[in-house]
Amino acid sequence: MFAFLLFFLSCAFDEGRGPLSKFVFVELPSRLIDRAVDQIAGLPGVGKRTALRLALHLLARNEEDVRRFTEAIQDMKSGVKACRNCGNLGEEEICNICQDLRREDNRIAVVEDLRDLLAIESTGHFKGRYHVLGGVISPMDGVGPADLRIDSLVSRASEEKCTEIIFALPTTMEGDTTAFYLDKRLRACGVEVTTLARGVAVGDELQYADELTLIRSLQQRLPYASSTGESSPAP
Ligand SMILES: [Zn+2]
Repeated sequence: MFAFLLFFLSCAFDEGRGPLSKFVFVELPSRLIDRAVDQIAGLPGVGKRTALRLALHLLARNEEDVRRFTEAIQDMKSGVKACRNCGNLGEEEICNICQDLRREDNRIAVVEDLRDLLAIESTGHFKGRYHVLGGVISPMDGVGPADLRIDSLVSRASEEKCTEIIFALPTTMEGDTTAFYLDKRLRACGVEVTTLARGVAVGDELQYADELTLIRSLQQRLPYASSTGESSPAP
């Protein structure tokens, strides 16, 4: 009991940052709690201490709440599928964006996953289509081109109505590797390949920008009028 109390106290502090961060994990009082904590801790960004906090929270909820919670996860898993055309998620074979006749067919923004698609959608400034790769090339994580929706992107880019492919990929080494590979694959398709501008972020102070960001900002400088967004048409 004393050991468990110590363990619980250690959970009061953030993952590994509190004064008890050197506390050694002890055995939990129930195998069932232990199993639930293991499952929750398997989620990205969730450590053991947070997992225990969430498990105890669920334990304190009534059975109906917990049933709705697990049912929502199970229904999502069984009912959500990737769009056959672009890889976006939805409940139909073809997603809402691909079915939307008001969207422009000539531009396709290539994104890593749904989160990036939603980020661009939230701007309300892109009316084209998307292609969700399902990841980026990362040899360290064992992700190669064959694991991503690249062949289907190349075949979409080859269609006559497509004139521009926009790389909206992460500005990481993996994102750059993926863009480099895609660019080579897309050259034969006869489409213009563009990438999101990279530079000093809105609201950033120059003195805090890193060297590479400043170099790219200088290289990709814009006419002032277009940088204000007033004279340039939305894509
Ligand atoms: Zn789609």
